[in-house]
Parts: sequence; C-alpha cells; structure tokens
Amino acid sequence: MKANYHTHTIRCQHAMGRDEDFISAALDAGFDVLGFADHAPWPFRNGFVSPIRMPMSDLEDYIRSVKALQKQYAGQIDIFLGLESEYFPRYRDHMLRLREMGVSYFILGAHYNDSEEENPYIGPECQTDEGVLRYAEHAVKAMRTGLFCYVAHPDLFMRHRRDDEFSPACEQATDMICQAANEMKLPIEYNLLGLDTQLRGFSRGYPSAPFWEYIKKFDNTVILGVDAHEPSHLADTSLWETGRRNVLDMGYRLIDHLDLEV
Ligand SMILES: [Zn+2]
Ligand SMILES: [Zn+2]
Repeated sequence: MKANYHTHTIRCQHAMGRDEDFISAALDAGFDVLGFADHAPWPFRNGFVSPIRMPMSDLEDYIRSVKALQKQYAGQIDIFLGLESEYFPRYRDHMLRLREMGVSYFILGAHYNDSEEENPYIGPECQTDEGVLRYAEHAVKAMRTGLFCYVAHPDLFMRHRRDDEFSPACEQATDMICQAANEMKLPIEYNLLGLDTQLRGFSRGYPSAPFWEYIKKFDNTVILGVDAHEPSHLADTSLWETGRRNVLDMGYRLIDHLDLEV
C-alpha cells in the first residue's frame, strides 16, 4: 500500500495548487491513500493571526472540500481529513472540537512551544542546547496527550544545525522524543520535503543523518511523509523511492499505512 498522510493545501498561505490537483498527482503517482493534514487553524484569543497556517475562517471550507473529494474519489483513492497540529495546552478544547467537526486525525508538527502568540518559531531557538531540550520537553508533552497519530519531522530541532552540531543535548532530546514515541506507539516520520531540499543541494537540517543513525537503538516505527506543499511533491515518485530505500537501508521498520477511521 502507498499512503501519504502529510498533504497541505493553499489555505496555509505557503502551499500551492487546488485540492483536487493534489489528488490527481497522488493518483498518477500510484497512491492508495491520501491524507490532507494542512497546518491547523487556532482561535488565538488576542487577535493574533498566524501567517503560516490556515486562518479559522477557512476551516469550514477545508472540511467541506476534503469531505466532498472523499466521496467523489471513493473507489479510486482513500482520502482522509486530518490536520498537522501543534500542541497548545490552552487550546486543547479546540482540538477536541475539530475532532467533532470531522477531522479524523492529527499529526504532530511541533514548530512552536506553547503558544504561537508568545513564542517564536523553534528553528533558531534550537541552535542553543537549552532550546533543543525545551523543544523536546514540549514535543513529549504533546505526544503523551494521545491526540496524535504520528510525529512529523521528529528531527526538526536540527533545522538550523549542521550534522556535526548534533550535540549531547541533541542526543538527550532525541532520547526523549523517540522513547515517548515508542511508549505512545507513534510512528515517527521520515520527511520527504526535507529530503527533497537536501537532494537539491540545500541544507534543511532534516532528515538529520546523525539523528537517524543515533536512533537505531530505539527501533522506532517509521512512516514516510511527503509534506506536500504543491502537487508536484506527490508526483515525484523517485523522491518517494529514495526515501523508502534510505529508511529500509538503515534497517528501520517502515509501515505503509495507518489504521484510521474516516
Ligand atoms: Zn508548511
Ligand atoms: Zn507539513
């Protein structure tokens, strides 16, 4: 089975393409399952508007569109309605409401500590060891809620670090993240958007070679995530194959789908 649960839409303000174009690309590339997991909207209380995610005003349209496509493509490809979500404890009720509205899964994409109104993107902060540990603590807290079904780019803290900057604090953070993922039975993602960037000759920090080498001792379950921000990311079958090969060559248990209910 070929399944990707990490697909964005134009609503997050940094992706391109119509919803249906992502599905066409997925069908052409031989996917059996396509999960939409756009960057979750949050009802920020102080009027803060995030420039990197779906605004609340697009939420209904997102749900309506994915559900309509689910019906339209039934029998051709299984479409799931999800969200890539942070964990902001003060907005936990909002996540529960999203589930009631029909969102069937959340992948954990922790880019901010609690909450985005008050904290910067964690990338630069993770250039310090304290930042890395604070990030890991937050990610573990998120995983332990039981709200998530997998951990997107678990090595995001390496975003602005070189491979030779995988410090003892990074090892400690990795221990925390991978042990929690195992405890909670959450697959961790090998992120193909990051891999694509690296194959094009740019540094993105993840997938982080020292991270993936270091975690061999944990025997985590791994899943591939396209992190598609445009239909062409899904269409690139060689990227998928390279990612798959990399994970298998490192000896990881790669799962090909999640057991989700629509
Ligand atoms: Zn994004
Ligand atoms: Zn993503």
